[in-house]
Amino acid sequence: MKCPSCRIKAINFITWAQGLSAFKTNCSNCNTALKANALVYVILLFTLIATFSFFPYVEGVVGYLGLSDINSKLKVFVLIPVILLGAALAWFFGGYKISKKQSYSK
Ligand SMILES: [Zn+2]
Repeated sequence: MKCPSCRIKAINFITWAQGLSAFKTNCSNCNTALKANALVYVILLFTLIATFSFFPYVEGVVGYLGLSDINSKLKVFVLIPVILLGAALAWFFGGYKISKKQSYSK
């Protein structure tokens, strides 16, 4: 996602996808304090809804893939593509806005 201050990519996808940097970070170029815009929250909310609505089908997908014998915790991994798709949508369509609370630590 681009930094609204310097117009350069503020963060790489790997760092972004690892957690809280998706919502609050400092630009890696100009160190402006940034927070996620509303679109990111909207997309992530829809991703959560999609993930939960997909839960009843997990057993079916696991059965279809012939993985019925695997540990039930591992079955949740079939949901990862849904989550990744949501993250990718948030990455491409979402963005940052400048946080009012500036960080001066370099
Ligand atoms: Zn910047």
